[in-house]
Amino acid sequence: MYVNYGIPEDYEQLERFGISVKGCIVIARYGASWRGIKPKLAAEKGAVGCLIYSDPKEDGFYHGDPFPEGAWRPKDGVQRGSVMDMPLHPGDPLTPGIGATADAKRLDIKEARTLTKIPVLPISSADAQPLLASLSGKVAPESWRGALPITYKIGPGPSKVHLRIKSNWDIKPIHDVVVTIPGAVYPDEWIIRGNHHDAWVNGAQDPVSGVAAQMEELRAYSELLRRGWKPKRTIVYCLWDGEEQGLLGSTEWVEAHADELKQKAVLYINSDSNGRGYLGVSGSHTHEKFISGVARDIEDPETKLSVWKRSQLRGIAHARSPEERQELRSRSDFRIGALGSGSDYTAFIDHLGVASLDLGYGGEDGGGIYHSIYDDYYWYTHFSDTDFKYGPTLAQTAGTAVLRIADAELLPYDFVNFAETVRRYQDELKKLLVGMRDQIRERNRQLEEGVFAATTDPKQPLVAPKAEQIPPHLNFAPLDNAMDVLSRAAGQYSKAAKKFAQKSAAVPASEVEAVNQKLIRSDRLLTSSEGLPGRPWFKNLIYAPGFYTGYGVKTIPGVREAIEQKRWKEAEQEIVRVAAALSAHAALIESAASDLEKTVRK
Ligand SMILES: [Zn+2]
Repeated sequence: MYVNYGIPEDYEQLERFGISVKGCIVIARYGASWRGIKPKLAAEKGAVGCLIYSDPKEDGFYHGDPFPEGAWRPKDGVQRGSVMDMPLHPGDPLTPGIGATADAKRLDIKEARTLTKIPVLPISSADAQPLLASLSGKVAPESWRGALPITYKIGPGPSKVHLRIKSNWDIKPIHDVVVTIPGAVYPDEWIIRGNHHDAWVNGAQDPVSGVAAQMEELRAYSELLRRGWKPKRTIVYCLWDGEEQGLLGSTEWVEAHADELKQKAVLYINSDSNGRGYLGVSGSHTHEKFISGVARDIEDPETKLSVWKRSQLRGIAHARSPEERQELRSRSDFRIGALGSGSDYTAFIDHLGVASLDLGYGGEDGGGIYHSIYDDYYWYTHFSDTDFKYGPTLAQTAGTAVLRIADAELLPYDFVNFAETVRRYQDELKKLLVGMRDQIRERNRQLEEGVFAATTDPKQPLVAPKAEQIPPHLNFAPLDNAMDVLSRAAGQYSKAAKKFAQKSAAVPASEVEAVNQKLIRSDRLLTSSEGLPGRPWFKNLIYAPGFYTGYGVKTIPGVREAIEQKRWKEAEQEIVRVAAALSAHAALIESAASDLEKTVRK
């Protein structure tokens, strides 16, 4: 059976058609979600196997000439990738929550919760085409059709597929490479920088283009060390292994050193791959102002503008509304994205609550070789960063960020942007609920008027959905109150930090250090030791990958997913939990602000 992208909306559509995937092998196209969601949902719906293919509509000739003439995925190109249930927990499936060291207590493979429940295989569009062409039954809705020269039908059958998968279940060592430059003044405050070194096949772009920048940063530090430089704080560089198989190297390292990292980690800076174009940043909004400042000082190799300016101009050109355009013109900082999952920052930000940033250049290097054999030197030097200009630019960006934090007197936290961003998320939650109410009310009205019955095709009758309960009003007051306190504390801290910047020379280092300790602790207060509902490994209450979107981020995830999945009681409980965390966070910031004010007044 063809299930389009194999996401929840597609199964809702199938239900309306009255078609079930029970006992079928489903074929889904890549896109619209992280790939691991497709077999997870297929298994939940009763399918016995899952094929995933790259349709040229999303990933292939539809966009441009295929490789080797052009940058796009050829018909035989296969996108590999993990399908482990990472929204439950990443890392070794046999050691959730603890480091997979040689003597670690391991689950039996039958108890591992993140391995797929049904066999799954990625295939090329050339291999998918005859399978899709052999399906009969209902013609797929227009939005389900790809770019192959066939009539897309849903099935089921009549063709049969033999799916046989051989897996290697050996336990093998993987190798992280960790380099430490000890801090001369605050050795127990760590700035951590990472990029994975393992690849699917050749991996010129993913991960070597990111690793190369990291190597360049280290070369520069060794040059500085030779001249007698010593960073104030400890710098830790990590080359992760096993990222592609499920963030194995970074997750297991973080789990093995969790207690130490909770005490010492100041910031984690990640990259994964790099290309030609614009700086993209996602991460903790407490560091939005900081990374914007770095970006204003880095020159774009092509336009000679700052990389910040280039990103801003692009944002203005692509703004979706006049208001957004106006805001981008007047705002002096980036609006950085929130982190979901998909690379090695996951364990840092989601499991421990360590502030994290993910950096990379791209956007002028369109192409489709992701996770395939075609991600090689030829592709990279013909279609991506062809003259290696953006490798040094990434090294300058990440390296400057690391050096600034390592040597900062007062750590560069800013809570005004953070508070403003969390308030936006909160507004989104309220709008989400209102939108659901309107939508369900409208659907119920249509149902009463018999709109669904009127569109029924006599051969394939639509199954009319039942009238649904209108979502109740939720009590957002605890969150509203916490946000007011947070905004006030953020403003107070920002004022104190400005005063400090003018008088810092006169302030004794020990007093600033006490403030820094509070700042580091503030990130941890946004986590809960019990974790998110149904997935205790994910402890961050502000950022998480979506349970049914995979890489895609869900902000204030406990509340948002409870609303989306219509678990109203849980939504109200989560509102209270998030509000309590934000209040504790605000109280600590307020106390850091008054400490800082005192140091300046003296
Ligand atoms: Zn990668």
